[in-house]
Amino acid sequence: MYRSYNQSQSFLLPPSLYDFVDEGHPAHLINDLVDQLDLTVLEARNGNLGQPAYHPRLMLKVILYGFTVGIFSSRKLQRACQENLAFKYLAGMETPVFRTFIEFRQRHREDMKGVFVQTVKLARALGLARLGAVALDGTKIDANTSKHKAMSYGRMLEEEKRLQGEIRRLLETAEATDQREDQEYGPEDDGYQVGEELARREQRLKKIQEAKRALEGREQREHPGEPIDPKKQISFADPDARCFTKPSDGTRYVYNAQAAVDMDSQIIVANHVEESVSDAHAAEPILERMEREQGQLPETLVMDAGYGNQDTLASCQQRGVTPVCATAREGKEDREASKLDRLCYDHAPDRFVCPHGHVFQFAHQHSTSGTRTYKTPGPTTCACGHYQTADGRAVIRVPQSHLAKRELQRIMAEPGHRELYRRRKYTAEPPFGQIKAGMGFRRFLYRGREKVGSEWNLVCAAFNVKKLAALLGTRGHPANPGPAAGDEGGNGPLRKLPPLKPFFASRGGLLAWLTPWVRPRAISVAPLAQGV
Ligand SMILES: [Zn+2]
Repeated sequence: MYRSYNQSQSFLLPPSLYDFVDEGHPAHLINDLVDQLDLTVLEARNGNLGQPAYHPRLMLKVILYGFTVGIFSSRKLQRACQENLAFKYLAGMETPVFRTFIEFRQRHREDMKGVFVQTVKLARALGLARLGAVALDGTKIDANTSKHKAMSYGRMLEEEKRLQGEIRRLLETAEATDQREDQEYGPEDDGYQVGEELARREQRLKKIQEAKRALEGREQREHPGEPIDPKKQISFADPDARCFTKPSDGTRYVYNAQAAVDMDSQIIVANHVEESVSDAHAAEPILERMEREQGQLPETLVMDAGYGNQDTLASCQQRGVTPVCATAREGKEDREASKLDRLCYDHAPDRFVCPHGHVFQFAHQHSTSGTRTYKTPGPTTCACGHYQTADGRAVIRVPQSHLAKRELQRIMAEPGHRELYRRRKYTAEPPFGQIKAGMGFRRFLYRGREKVGSEWNLVCAAFNVKKLAALLGTRGHPANPGPAAGDEGGNGPLRKLPPLKPFFASRGGLLAWLTPWVRPRAISVAPLAQGV
């Protein structure tokens, strides 16, 4: 005895697309969340020429949902819209071809930042990103290039010389051959292969010279006036990508993707692609973005030792943000600085005390560098100072960077800050894990900083949408009191959040709250006989 099975049966009533996707499916929430985003900018960019375009909301729903389930390529999105019920629902049964996705992302490259900002605003409107404590962290994501498509500066100089020599010789040969052949065949004949070889070398030389210029420009910006280290590398495929070497996994070409995460909800509240593999100067652009995009700064910015320096401190202080930031020990190679690490610092009165109990009092400050000099009041015998004056008093010179480090250490020692710093591990790092392992985003598909920045905005927007869906969809629901389904590893801090208000408990409740006005619920599609 079997259930009846009839594929050619037609529907008695036109089915609603909504019914093809389960009530609790994340696609519904992504659909509703994208419906809440203000896409005026995207809509305005669409011209009125040519074929009517797909609605940006449709495109965005499909692209963002694709990102949450690990589908990043436009060709795979096209296929998903043809085969996958959740995608069919989001696309309203439309089937855009991959070109359309590529063009959409190209046309709206700038707008993806706006889409990301919208997800943060929505989270804040829902009370899910208070911007109290925000953790900032960076992760290296592979660029769309390989280390085999790269060359070091030294090698480029050699190659350039070698190719120039070869080209010169080929030209000489060509000239000689030309003259000979002109005599043999007459001036009209053109057939021989020196031209091809020449063209190939000239093309290669051009490519190397372009890469060399890009590297020189970059080094000039980062280390003005210094000679270029011949070991510095650049990628031909993506000159903006950075070479990153780690003993455990060798050399890779990467982008340093930064994300500031609200420590209560794990919503990404600002993102940025840093110009270098170091995090040292990444706090400034992130704060600047939060100020501009959200009109609000966090109370505290929590960062690991990679950010712990004078510039980070200054960026935070200028904006009234408390930096809770670890600091690195000075390397052994910097002996003057590590000498200072051994001394205790008293904030008031402004003085240092060495392990032997000698006091170094403030003497004066250098007017341009800001380096401060401290001296012992009388002659000492210990070697804690940097040098001794003629009368035997010990002197230390304290650069501003060291004072900044001391200040960061003082802030870290304030009540609650160590605990907050420890919590960073559970809040700032998991989003990267979820983006890489959960969503499967491990490599940028696009090349060049601008395109990569737009891609990172989309990734962060998709992460937020997924996170919001998880927070709203399951938390506080009587049937599912535990951590949200999307939270791989069930991260501690989320569990500590107060439960959402009862009207968020169900989907209908969320919608009722978000959209008091009437919205078209079911999209009915009449001719569906051979569809789905
Ligand atoms: Zn001493």
